[in-house]
Amino acid sequence: MKTPRAIEQFIEAFSKLPSIGPRQATRLAFYLINLGKAEIKHLSSALGSLQNVDVCKQCFFISESKSNSKGLCDICSDLGRKPGTIMIVEKETDLLSVEKTSKFNGRYMIIGDLNRNGSVDASQRLRISALKKQIQDDLSGSASEIIIGLNPTTIGDLTASIIKQELSSHSKKITRLGRGLPTGGEIEFADEETLGSALDRRN
Ligand SMILES: [Zn+2]
Repeated sequence: MKTPRAIEQFIEAFSKLPSIGPRQATRLAFYLINLGKAEIKHLSSALGSLQNVDVCKQCFFISESKSNSKGLCDICSDLGRKPGTIMIVEKETDLLSVEKTSKFNGRYMIIGDLNRNGSVDASQRLRISALKKQIQDDLSGSASEIIIGLNPTTIGDLTASIIKQELSSHSKKITRLGRGLPTGGEIEFADEETLGSALDRRN
């Protein structure tokens, strides 16, 4: 028999997700069907609510479109945070991990998934350019500190050195987070204490 159309549509949509191939998507479809209609309705409304989320035009974290009209996230629009201290992280989950330490009161810039060869691709260059422009416009051309919060891996190191070169004339100092983190470890999975002390011991 042919795969039922509803299942086929589900597989097509969900196998686009990271680390889900057609086989996992198929299994997931049957799993969800067996959970029952109420649960599926609950899941689809959770999925649908992501439609109200935009990407912050300044730091590329998420902003809930209704919360403010400037397209900025809660962090970028928080006047209590230091605009001149900017941490560059790879992804949204790294930002959330740093936020959990409650030790950082600056802003962020999400650079996006690092490339396997440690190079900086076109979309990342655009983000770096946007950051430079923001520093130019809002911080009179120089940030007080840029903290490179990339994982302490070979790829992280290579990318960090490119970013450092790119931004050296745009900040009074550029530091690197992660010296307290286990080499090869990931910021996203570091516990709050380890990450907090890596933040204290940045250099
Ligand atoms: Zn933001």
